[in-house]
Amino acid sequence: MTPFQWSLTLGAAAAAANVLGGLVILSRSHWNELLLKNFLALAAGFMLAATCLRMLPESFAISPHAPLMILAGYFLVHFFEHTLTPHFHFGEETHGDAMLHPAAGYSALLGLSIHTFFDGVSIASGFLISVPLGLLIFGAVVLHKLPEGFTVASIALASGRGQRGALGAACVLAAATLAGVLGMHALAPAVAYALPLSTGVTFYVAATDLMPEVNEERGWRMAVLVFVGVALFWLSEHALHQLGL
Ligand SMILES: [Zn+2]
Ligand SMILES: [Zn+2]
Repeated sequence: MTPFQWSLTLGAAAAAANVLGGLVILSRSHWNELLLKNFLALAAGFMLAATCLRMLPESFAISPHAPLMILAGYFLVHFFEHTLTPHFHFGEETHGDAMLHPAAGYSALLGLSIHTFFDGVSIASGFLISVPLGLLIFGAVVLHKLPEGFTVASIALASGRGQRGALGAACVLAAATLAGVLGMHALAPAVAYALPLSTGVTFYVAATDLMPEVNEERGWRMAVLVFVGVALFWLSEHALHQLGL
């Protein structure tokens, strides 16, 4: 497969996970919500390992501007998810009052769409450099895609957009992910900027969006799952190595 075929296939799988996450909240099953929380913890560990062990070193290797681009990626998410947006956090949106103003829901959707656009850019820039890098970044992205779709659908529900609006919001995130994949391949020479930028984005999502949600949970189970996520990254990297990739 060509890098483009890899990106398109796995980008579509990641986008589908957004829609699936949106469907979970519509199914209203407590068991599913717990499962999603576990994905969030696994994703945080896997993403932090992928960021520190693969994305940062590869970024420094391909661009002298990497430090600045990483910082820019980090603050890009901070700006769109938390500065421009009055209220946003991962997990179910339960306080309807914060979301009563429909504009708050739409700005959260915009912020998350920009973040998911970079989920797509991350996957595509990984495959433009190498298949194993692309696969590992895909792993980091796909693990948090279910909770992401769930989050955006719950925000749509809390701001009164109904079930159709909730599913629509999850589909917007899926489309933004695919747009990121296509955009990256259309501007493939920009990968030296795009990889460090999406490294900063991934770092933010893992450390600033996901970790606080993990730490909200009482008890040690969720906290331990973060380490399981790190181990999962290590195992994936080792397996790819064994496969000669
Ligand atoms: Zn809230
Ligand atoms: Zn994401």
